[in-house]
Amino acid sequence: RFGSHELKKQFLVPTIAGDFVACLGISEAGAGSDVSLLSWNVHSHLQTFLSENIVHVHGASIFCELSHTLFSSGIHVAKKIDKLGMRSSDTAQIFFEDVRVPCKNLIGEEGKGFTYQMLQFQEERLWGVATVLTPMETIIGETVDYTRQRKVFGQPVLHNQTVHFRLAELATEVELLRSLLHRAVALYVEGNDVTKFASMAKLKAGRLTREVTDSCLQFWGGMGFTSEVLVSRFYRDLRLMSIGGGTDETMLSIICKYMDILPRK
Ligand SMILES: Cc1cc2nc3c(=O)[nH]c(=O)nc-3n(C[C@H](O)[C@H](O)[C@H](O)COP(=O)(O)OP(=O)(O)OC[C@H]3O[C@@H](n4cnc5c(N)ncnc54)[C@H](O)[C@@H]3O)c2cc1C
Repeated sequence: RFGSHELKKQFLVPTIAGDFVACLGISEAGAGSDVSLLSWNVHSHLQTFLSENIVHVHGASIFCELSHTLFSSGIHVAKKIDKLGMRSSDTAQIFFEDVRVPCKNLIGEEGKGFTYQMLQFQEERLWGVATVLTPMETIIGETVDYTRQRKVFGQPVLHNQTVHFRLAELATEVELLRSLLHRAVALYVEGNDVTKFASMAKLKAGRLTREVTDSCLQFWGGMGFTSEVLVSRFYRDLRLMSIGGGTDETMLSIICKYMDILPRK
């Protein structure tokens, strides 16, 4: 939104085409939920950086930091971190030392990175919600199929009311989340501040993905605990929804702020 035409052409176009892998570095060893604690800095005259981060980065060909500058060399990737889920997207600890960035790679105005990031979070959170709707639908659908054919004590698992009622309830919750997302996006497209609704939707998505994957996995019995089925992968992967892009607790704090019920420090 704030980058020059040249930057979009150089970085955005190949990223969208899939030729570049990009990453966004916000979290630091000492700053996660509290983004204002970020320690790293840009020295515009020297054009150098020094920082330490843990981000989605291994294998990335371009890197975008909170100062909203783009650079691609002089970065030391220290350690690829093994994770519970999201294993097809690498996460690594990285260090920057004397990384030189051409001034033309600055996105927007100098000193506005934090503001831009706060704006970007709304889009990222709405996008995050949109990305979990289909996985949840898929897993409910696959669970219906599996429990319909899996017979226990002479009848399909699905025929137990506790199973089909629970699946119906989860499907209803997914539709409610979709409605909230549509409402928030419609307001956003009209130019409104949707911080509260985006935070509510992100919070609900984090909670619901945990409920859907946990409940569905249970209905698969022992098969659900294996890596042979999709439900176990979604159980691991979607757990990130309550953490990445702002934790559930961060979402609750934002909602409280908008409701004017967050105690002032
Ligand atoms: C797989 C994965 C991918 C990631 N990708 C990226 C990426 O691409 N780019 C990037 O910049 N970062 C990335 N992150 C980092 C992610 O954004 C942070 O982990 C997240 O913001 C939380 O920060 P933290 O881990 O430092 O937790 P902390 O800030 O240390 O929080 C610890 C716990 O305290 C809770 N807490 C905080 N405040 C309160 C409060 N007021 N009340 C109650 N509880 C509270 C938090 O909710 C959390 O549960 C990724 C993380 C993971 C796991």
